[in-house]
Amino acid sequence: MCRHLAYLGQPRTLQELVLDPPYSLGVQAYAPRRQQHGTINVDGFGVGWYTPRRSEPVRYRRAQPMWADQSFASLAPTVDAGCVVAAVRSATPGYPSEESGAAPFTHGRWLFSHNGALGDLPLARKALRDEVSWVPDALAPVDSALLFGLAVARWESGCGLGDGLARVTREVAELGGGRLNLLAGDGERVAGTTYGDTLFVHETADGVLLASEPCDDDPAWAPVPPRSLVEVDRHGVVVTSL
Ligand code: GLN
Repeated sequence: MCRHLAYLGQPRTLQELVLDPPYSLGVQAYAPRRQQHGTINVDGFGVGWYTPRRSEPVRYRRAQPMWADQSFASLAPTVDAGCVVAAVRSATPGYPSEESGAAPFTHGRWLFSHNGALGDLPLARKALRDEVSWVPDALAPVDSALLFGLAVARWESGCGLGDGLARVTREVAELGGGRLNLLAGDGERVAGTTYGDTLFVHETADGVLLASEPCDDDPAWAPVPPRSLVEVDRHGVVVTSL
């Protein structure tokens, strides 16, 4: 299982969001506290964020572990953003460890991450792959990319950010499922699903974090119930059952 995180709120640096907390995503790469599948997250990482300069996010990914990337360590204190999606990866057996397989995946204004593994659905996978072939990031050699393509197709046909994630989670679950914790952002909102793994929400007056596991010991971290959709926008947090 990978670990992922999304933030929406007052601009904060990538350093503050991803590296500084005692159990930050950077620490979760080598010492996750609640990971049930896999032990460490060495198969790459990625951070995506939005800038006022354009509507598409900036996306930085590497095939190496987060702690081994001095370039990310040097830029993280200098970049601030009010909407961020980040992930550290433990590749599911059968998928290569390479940059194109690391979340977040992106297309237009969307950022997406998947924590889990798609079930064994060989025929459905072929049909689904054909459906998403117009989304370049959806062609990466990893199950998460396919789920991203399905989400983009729903978003681009008019579904809201959270609704698109909920539909993909439900539809893939019906086909045979797997572990489907999805997470996404569009610059103005972030959303996530819980389907097979944990997700926590941390809300303050300045912003909201969604994360696979708490980044510190603040009692304000609250678990999102299993099989839920959590949606965050500037009005607050809404959790609904999937
Ligand atoms: N299945 C995805 C991958 O291989 C996600 C893995 C995970 O959550 N550990 O990257």
